[in-house]
Formats: sequence, C-alpha cells, structure tokens
Amino acid sequence: MTHPNDPALRSFIPVDAESDFPIQNLPYGVFSARGLAPRVGVAIGDYVLDLWELEQDGRLAVGQDGPGVFVADTLNPFMALGPKVWAATRSRISELLRHDNGELRDNEALCRRVLVPMKEARLHLPIAVSGYTDFYASKEHASNVGIMFRGKENALQPNWLHMPVGYNGRASTVVVSGTKVRRPRGQLKPPGADLPSFGACRRLDFELEMGAVIGQPSPMGETLTEALAEQMIFGFVLLNDWSARDIQQWEYVPLGPFLAKAFATSISPWVVTSAALEPFRRQGPKQDPAPLPYLQQTQPHNYDIELEVALRAAPMSKPARICRTNFKYMYWSSVQQLLHHASSGCAMNVGDLLGSGTMSGPEKDQRGSLLEISWNGTEPVELASGITRTFLEDGDSLVMRGWCQGNGYRVGFGEVEGTIVPA
Ligand code: MN
Repeated sequence: MTHPNDPALRSFIPVDAESDFPIQNLPYGVFSARGLAPRVGVAIGDYVLDLWELEQDGRLAVGQDGPGVFVADTLNPFMALGPKVWAATRSRISELLRHDNGELRDNEALCRRVLVPMKEARLHLPIAVSGYTDFYASKEHASNVGIMFRGKENALQPNWLHMPVGYNGRASTVVVSGTKVRRPRGQLKPPGADLPSFGACRRLDFELEMGAVIGQPSPMGETLTEALAEQMIFGFVLLNDWSARDIQQWEYVPLGPFLAKAFATSISPWVVTSAALEPFRRQGPKQDPAPLPYLQQTQPHNYDIELEVALRAAPMSKPARICRTNFKYMYWSSVQQLLHHASSGCAMNVGDLLGSGTMSGPEKDQRGSLLEISWNGTEPVELASGITRTFLEDGDSLVMRGWCQGNGYRVGFGEVEGTIVPA
C-alpha cells in the first residue's frame, strides 16, 4: 500500500499546487455546517471531510474504544486513543481520498454527505486546551531581546543555553483564528512616571510561534524519554502569543510574564499531524554546550516550515508582509521542550499546548515580533505609503501563515488571523 506521505499520491478531489491541504497533509480540525453539531473533519483542497458521517456509514472505524470520537467538539477524545489509532486513521482517510479508489469517489450520495465546501464550514477551536505553556526557545529572539534590554555582553541569561526556558500561561484565553482581540488593560508605569496607573496597553505586540499539541498524557512523577516525548506530540498549529509589552515590563519581576500574556493567544484551526510533517524533519542548530543527558537528542526534531507574517491596517486594501522566517532555526526543539517540561515530575495531559516561543531567524526581515522589528519602538516599519507601525493599533489585522514546501505540493497550516478592537 502507498504511504500517505508519498509525493506521487493524488486525490480525486482537485487540489491546487498552492493549496495548503493536499492528500499528503490531511490535518484535523473541528467544524460545523448545515446547522449540525460540531464534529471532527479533515481538510482536503477546498473541502472538509466529515469524519463522523464517514464513521456512521461504516467507512471509518477507530477500534473498540473509539466509536463516537468524531462527533465530539474537540480532537481530545480522538487524540487520547494514541499513535496506533492516529496512524491507522490517517492511512484509511488517505486511501478513501485517492484518485484511483472508487469507494468514495463513485458514491455520489456519500460524497454529498461527507464533503463540505470549506467556505460553508465554521471552524472552531480544535482542542480543549488543558494547559498552555509558552517557551522562549529561539536563540535569535532571546538574543535580540537581551541586547535591547541588557546590552550585547549579557544578551542571553546564564541558564538559556542549558534549558528551554518557559512559563505556565493561561489555557482559558486560547482562541481560534478569526476571534477579535480586545486591547488589554493593565498596570502601566512608563519610564519617568513615579507611580503606576491602570489603563489601556500602548505597546501591543504579536509573537510568531508554533504550538505543539500534546496527544498523550504522562503521569505526575514520571519523566520521559526522547522516543516517548516524540510519540506524545500529535501535531502542530500556528500560534500568535499576543503580548502587552508595557504591562509585561512592569509586572514581570520577579516571577515572569503574567497578565501581559494572559488576555489572548490565537491558534490556527487545523492541526497538522507530526506524521504529515515527517518528510520535512530537519536537524536543528548545533547545541553548544551539549545539553544535559535528559535533553539530548539522537534524532533530528526540527522541521522545515516556511513562515510569514502580514499586517493590514484598517485603511489598507491588502496586508503587507513584515516577516518571513522558518521553524528550522529553533534552538530547542518541541521534543526537548516536552522532555524538560515533564523532567521535574510535572504531569502532561491530552490537549496541552506548548508554544515554541517567538521565532526569529538570523536576518533582519526574519524577526517574529514588532518589539524586534521596530527595535523597541525606535525604528517604525512602513506598511504602505504614509502608514507606519511600531506596535499594533486598533483595527489592525495580523495574519500568520506557514507551510512545508514539497516537490509540486505544500503541506500547509492555513492561517491564524486576529484583529485588534479598542480597549
Ligand atoms: Mn511567547
């Protein structure tokens, strides 16, 4: 049988070479359409494949523990079934969508039931987020921020090269692409002010990140191996870790970010599986000094994912690109982040979300936040004639995209969009 990642595979559903969703991808999401309850679907070209209807028709079985997981309004019950079920389901869906398989292709009535045009589908938050953790794993980003606030000599904190630094964020405000983001309020103490005041954030920023979706649990008190950590990662989403820089600057001493990050985190609606990303696996940057044994990797765990950020101010007809970078530059991989996360005995749950940390590449146009792009507000970026930005303004719409470029096809993530509304 042909492997679901085979570049030669074609679907009977026409898929443009520029589409994010060819048969080699098959990302999972939760959608509703035709007035029916939310259910699990897979994106294929301009359609959503309804897995619940396929299961009802007896075309898709997920084993004894599984019936009904596709009628859920999150991917969590399906993810909980584990890697063997994930692999079998992916193979079966790939088989059903193949151009040379008549089983679904030639059954018009079934096609009408299970293939929903994407533009008629409403996409929901794909996972019930159990816990949300945000890392700080790009060396270029950590160095840029360090240089800005501490100078070149002390750019990286002494711990940075020894562990993936992170903090526990809020799961309650993780939202799906398209959700409007209200400008946060908080305590502000601008330089020169004697006392803090409470008001609307003036230095609102985005952070370009990938989110690793944890699909298997690990019990409290248990540590992980590299192989186990890898198997626990179900897939990835694009993630915008909205940040209130002025609130953060005043509140973060000494326990780290709190409300400056807790007002919103946006993710893309389709979870691209680790299985689909397999052909795009790459060796990450050389780690020097060598990590402690519990963080050492025998396999490459980075991915070649092209990333783009565009910003559209309200008067602009189309967005302007402000960043183009790649996930492959990440210093600490998602596997290392998960290994570190569990290393103290911290339990991990199905539906945990690990933000990679802002992804900046080595070049100036590869910076993944406005803090870096505008160098802390000192170098405004021009979006269009007469329109510049240092930080986000009300009405601004921020769009992130990501894709792996194959030969003649791309395994894409779609987009994560958010528009700022006034405080
Ligand atoms: Mn972040």
